[in-house]
Amino acid sequence: MSFAEWILIAALFLELALRLALEIREVRIVHGRFDRFTVFRVLPVVNDVFPAEANFTNDRQGAFVCAHEKAHAELHHGFVRRSLQFGFALFCALTLGAAGVYLRFNLLELLLLFHLIFAVAKILFHVVCFTEEYEADFVAAKRVQRGVATRALESLLIQEFPRTPLFAYVYRTHPTARMRLDRISRTCKKNRR
Ligand SMILES: [Zn+2]
Repeated sequence: MSFAEWILIAALFLELALRLALEIREVRIVHGRFDRFTVFRVLPVVNDVFPAEANFTNDRQGAFVCAHEKAHAELHHGFVRRSLQFGFALFCALTLGAAGVYLRFNLLELLLLFHLIFAVAKILFHVVCFTEEYEADFVAAKRVQRGVATRALESLLIQEFPRTPLFAYVYRTHPTARMRLDRISRTCKKNRR
């Protein structure tokens, strides 16, 4: 086996270990047990195919949700996300092409390499998404009546399967309702000062 192949395998084992550690941390902090999606999340490549979790609440319609969606559109968040996805596709095409030509990776190795790039890129993508969500929340909260934003997020909090922020960064495109509530109350407090 070549040096590059050893690195690839080591990276996959590292991913497995890190994901497992995250699951154990989640169990200890939040629920006290593993859920049925744990195996799908932990196994490399399998986690690209299956959804990370079943419970992904949709915001119910309301003044705050409408204002939030409008803010997304006005701030061109959709465009930012599509540009990032395009950049990712381009980066993958170049990297995989180079790995195929220079490292002589076979199809399976290219698939595994793609998986690793995808796994890291997803987390970076989520970081950008979270920033956009906070931004849309902030704009929306300024436009609706005082208390409407917090009430909307509190009702979301009740419906939502609770997760730690670290878990949300790895698996979700939206911050948890708890994270959004904390952020909203912090920015409101700052503005009132
Ligand atoms: Zn949003």
